[in-house]
Amino acid sequence: MTSEGKPLGWTPRDEREHFIRCPVCGEMLDMRDLSEVLEHLHGQEVEEEPTRH
Ligand SMILES: [Zn+2]
Repeated sequence: MTSEGKPLGWTPRDEREHFIRCPVCGEMLDMRDLSEVLEHLHGQEVEEEPTRH
């Protein structure tokens, strides 16, 4: 592996993978930030348990 031109511990490409586009409002949000994730649920309930089926 070569690290030329890239500071150790910082890989912007990987960093971007933590961001997803909110399907509701279209803004980018950081998946590592729980408060942002919850904020972009926009009142939707999280599907954790398949209780409807
Ligand atoms: Zn949103």
